[in-house]
Parts: sequence; structure tokens; C-alpha cells
Amino acid sequence: MDCETCRAYACRAEGDVVLPKFCPMHEGELYDKAYAELMNDENRELYLESSKIEAEGYGQWPRVRETIELCKRMGYKKIGLAFCWGLRSEATMLAKIFKENGLELISAMCKTGGIPKEEVGITDEEKVRPGTYEVICNPIAQAMILNEHETEFNIVFGLCVGHDSMFYKYSKAFVTTLVVKDRALAHNPIAALYCDYYFRKKLVEE
Ligand code: SF4
Repeated sequence: MDCETCRAYACRAEGDVVLPKFCPMHEGELYDKAYAELMNDENRELYLESSKIEAEGYGQWPRVRETIELCKRMGYKKIGLAFCWGLRSEATMLAKIFKENGLELISAMCKTGGIPKEEVGITDEEKVRPGTYEVICNPIAQAMILNEHETEFNIVFGLCVGHDSMFYKYSKAFVTTLVVKDRALAHNPIAALYCDYYFRKKLVEE
């Protein structure tokens, strides 16, 4: 099973279609289970509103706008923001825009808790700047803070790869990602694929 090798894309076609041999759609039971989950009380509205926003703002609305639209249409009043220290100015800008849209944003920064890197087993050489005092990110605390505030929806705003994974696991509310961290590419990781010729040496270890 490997959708990325498929060129039939039968899942997008209307009517009777021939599925490739390796297509996961041969597993009818899995799709029945997934459909039941999509349509349950917890998921259905979010599922439908997301799709309506996709169509309404298609190619026009930036993701910030799509996120605001989703919060409004879902009736979320209290929204959590798990942001990176490196994006603190942008987090302030975002909070202002949310406020202007009548939405309350509760934020928790990545360095909350103030754990020195040495305390968890990072050596001085493994720091970003050896010889300096560095605090490690605390994505589980970020999630717990937002959980305690009973945020109805959470936004990941530039958390490190892996730290974001932990936030997703511990957040009680649904999470959307507004910014993915990519320090080398202005938080635009797909640029490395669009410019594969130039970036290849940086993507494959020799
Ligand atoms: S679901 Fe089936 S048809 Fe669709 S991309 Fe995957 S293999 Fe191809």
C-alpha cells in the first residue's frame, strides 16, 4: 500500500472505477469505521465547516483567515495558542487580529517552566549555542496550561518538530497548525522540495 506511487487516483473519480491492486480502498471495513467516526457528534460539525471554508476561501483566504473563520463558525470562544519564543512578535500580532475578530486567545510560550537543558540530559555541546544558558521547550506544559483553561480549540504556532508532536498528543482540544517551524526556510518547509535541485544535499545525508 503506497498512495504516493499511485497515478490512477481512482479515489477522486466519479462512478465505477478500477482500484489499483495496492489501493487501501479494498479494505471496506476500515472506511466504514472511519465514516462512522467522521459523522459522530464530536467530529461532524468540524469536518463539514472545514470543507465549507476550503471551498469558500479557495485560493483567496490566507490560513490565518481560514483559522479565524473556523473558530467563528464552530462557535469557539476560548482559543489556545501554543507558540514558539522565536515567533513571539508574530504571536502578539495574531492575538491582536483575533481580538479584532472578537475571539479570545489564551497563549502559552514554549519555554514555560524554565527547564535548563542540562537538567534533562542535553550536553553543552548539544545546545544551540554551547557555553550559554539555554532553556528547553515544554510542549506538554503548554498543552496542560491550555487544557486547564479549558480552551475549545488550540493553535500550534511554530513549535519545533517533535515538540509539536507532544503538544498534539497532550492537547485535549482539537489542534490546528498555523505555523510549522522551519528556521532555514522562513517556516516554509515545502520550499526544500520545490527547490529540490538546490536543497538535495541538505536533505540526504551523505
Ligand atoms: S486511495 Fe487508491 S486510488 Fe487513491 S491514491 Fe491511494 S491507491 Fe490511488
